[in-house]
Amino acid sequence: MSRIYLDGEFVGAEEVRFGPMLFSLNYAVCAFEGIRCYATPEGPAVYRLAEHLERFRQTCEYLGFENAHLAPEVQTRAVADLVRGFETGDLYIRPIAFVDEGIMRLDAHPAVRSCIFAMPIPAPGPAPVIALGLSDHPRSTETISRKISRNYFDPYLGLKSRKDGDDDLLFPDRGGLVTETSAHNVFLVAGDGRVVTPKTTHCLPGITRDSVIALLTDRDVPVIEQDIPARSIPDYVAAFTTSTASELRLVSRIADTDLDPDHPILRRLTEDFRASTLGQISNRREWNYHV
Ligand code: PMP
Repeated sequence: MSRIYLDGEFVGAEEVRFGPMLFSLNYAVCAFEGIRCYATPEGPAVYRLAEHLERFRQTCEYLGFENAHLAPEVQTRAVADLVRGFETGDLYIRPIAFVDEGIMRLDAHPAVRSCIFAMPIPAPGPAPVIALGLSDHPRSTETISRKISRNYFDPYLGLKSRKDGDDDLLFPDRGGLVTETSAHNVFLVAGDGRVVTPKTTHCLPGITRDSVIALLTDRDVPVIEQDIPARSIPDYVAAFTTSTASELRLVSRIADTDLDPDHPILRRLTEDFRASTLGQISNRREWNYHV
């Protein structure tokens, strides 16, 4: 790993040491982001950096985290400096805000600290085709719209009982409404070409989700945010998931329902999405932050 931006300065990875009394480690109170940088013909371009940092700012505000290094303009400069330290432009970048060592009080917690690290990842390839099981373990929706550590507890438990052949799981909430997969938003395509996705009361407001809604809308494909009972899944003909790290994954099956991973809407969308990451869609070029 290269340098790490820790509490406002760049340090070597070997200099970063946290002890077992880290508040965030013990109590899972932690805000973070996952951001992707692409090697484009015009050099490295961070995809939707401003939107990721705005979501990070909102998460920190929600947790009451304050720290001068968390300001979006400071984070933007730090991300750009980190990216410049790599030879490849294909990177995964993770800002984290966490609470320092000290575990004896929950009401007066220690200082908020922050870091950003980046690591090279493989250049993006074709969208993978995956099978989704339906989780028996429901997903709590109370804080689902926030990118905080506690939201990974339900998927963590659910994935433990994943069946053979299931690449990931789709999680209903306690009332049987579709939420997300372990760490990706989900979209379903109806036979009449409508694309539906859960409302953000039932999922993280994913940045890739937002990109996909915009790209589909640009193509006049209707996208509807609605409650989706898990029992209605057999009514759909195709599905895909979205996330920064995994981009688009095409779904061939959800539980017992077979779906078309080669559906024309999916084919065009994966092309449009790739073009958008490379800065090749003229009305979406503000999504590419060139470093
Ligand atoms: N839901 C969860 C729980 C996630 O962790 C993520 C990110 N991995 C997503 C959805 C997708 O969000 P984004 O497109 O912003 O990466």
